[in-house]
Amino acid sequence: MAPVKISIIGAGSAVFSMRLVNDLCKTKGLSGSLVSLMDIDEQRLNGVYELAVRYVKELGADLRFEKTTSLETSLHEADFVINTALVGGHAYLDKVREIGERYGYYRGIDAQELNMVTDYCTITNFNQLKFFVDLARMMERICPNAWLLQTANPVFEGTNLISRCSKIKVVGFCHGHHGVIEMAEALNLDEKKLDWQVAGFNHAIWLNRFFYDGEDGYELLDRWIEGGNLEGWKPRNPFDVQMSPAAIDMYRFYGMMPIGDTVRNGTWYYNKDFETKKRWYGEPWGGPDSDIGRRWLYDQLALGVELIKKFAQDESFSFKRFVNYFGPLLVTLPEDIRQTVEMLLDANRLSNEPVVQFIDSLVNGNVRRFVINVPNEGYIEGIPDGVFVEVPAVVDKDGWHVERIEPKLSEKVLKFYLWPRMLRMEWALYAIMNGDKSALIEFLMRDPRTNSLEQAKNVIEEILNLSENLSMRKHYEKNLKFC
Ligand code: NAD
Repeated sequence: MAPVKISIIGAGSAVFSMRLVNDLCKTKGLSGSLVSLMDIDEQRLNGVYELAVRYVKELGADLRFEKTTSLETSLHEADFVINTALVGGHAYLDKVREIGERYGYYRGIDAQELNMVTDYCTITNFNQLKFFVDLARMMERICPNAWLLQTANPVFEGTNLISRCSKIKVVGFCHGHHGVIEMAEALNLDEKKLDWQVAGFNHAIWLNRFFYDGEDGYELLDRWIEGGNLEGWKPRNPFDVQMSPAAIDMYRFYGMMPIGDTVRNGTWYYNKDFETKKRWYGEPWGGPDSDIGRRWLYDQLALGVELIKKFAQDESFSFKRFVNYFGPLLVTLPEDIRQTVEMLLDANRLSNEPVVQFIDSLVNGNVRRFVINVPNEGYIEGIPDGVFVEVPAVVDKDGWHVERIEPKLSEKVLKFYLWPRMLRMEWALYAIMNGDKSALIEFLMRDPRTNSLEQAKNVIEEILNLSENLSMRKHYEKNLKFC
């Protein structure tokens, strides 16, 4: 085992970073490594750093942490760079969404057929996409052999853009495939007896293989549906959509089950307005991409940031005494945060984020199975080589070995879902890579919510005129190219 340097960019991403810190401290193969926490928000950075340092000490793990607000410093001698930054934060995304809604685009202009996830913005999120390319280029200069592990969204557009503009090795990550396990729980199946595969694009994956103890798993799903379980179904939280009426309806049409965030990425049929969302994703939230579903998430994120700040500032705080410190309030924490806390308290428990284990597999040859976003090389038939696909792969010291996708994705998945989704990625990348404003407008002209050319032009102009978008405006006014 060789110590490595791992940079986490956007380390102030509260709950996510603490999950990575947890996994890093508990992965023996990475002992002796240096973890560089980088963020432009010093307060958030200090909070995560303070807790990381205390955590590693309490666990007795052999890991060093550094913190910096300089990207260059963080990248210096890095072997792995995890990008989790959200440039402009959720506040910027809310602002452009509000502008879009004033022009008649419910949930903003980035909410598009097959791409309804709120923070997966591909049209207006110029600063985020430009940051991806700038980061990759800086890596070429400072740490050309390092791996860029992309978790910040949009992963699909981001990985494709980076690979077209830079030679840096990039792999995309998402925990969405855990939807398979959620499904198994709903069907009362033992996870260990499952034989499954998913394939597609990020936030667009389908359960192509599903066997349980040698039996066809889809027959079990059909029985679950026929048994009237859908009628009694209720979400536990806005993100609990894996067995929602929308998922089952998509399964009926496509012949395969959509997994994880894919369920959120149907057509307007499920997303037209709040009432429609509630019908398909359950009451009261209507899924995570409604106004109230979003507020639920923001409350959790804010609480995570607040807790990290509070504990970091309190010198008497220790993880070992956490339960006493927090007392009976622990059970009142929202599920996601409580689970993160419980994971930190358990010396052996890892998070469900795959990225640290991926590093361990590459560095130490500890063979594991992952679902990763890598360039297609014939893995999914009908998708051009080079386009990033999300597929199961075994990873070892030599890299990834993608499984043969068997059985193939259904023709409907390919023609009604993956091809049109891929085209939307290509439109977004064409616009940004060529600084072509007319392509942005044309994108909206194909949106069923657009009633006139004026509507599309005006909404784009207002977004370009935001003070945060000075460089975006210049980029599109001067037809600047990315590469
Ligand atoms: P957040 O706003 O809470 O955190 C993002 C962090 O990025 C902040 O601390 C911010 O200060 C920092 N940042 C902003 N600009 C930066 C810059 N130029 N350089 C360095 N740091 C910068 O956001 P979040 O909710 O934690 O989400 C972060 C990203 O991760 C989003 O894109 C989100 O969609 C994505 N995400 C991905 C997955 C996945 O499984 N792939 C899961 C959840 C969230």
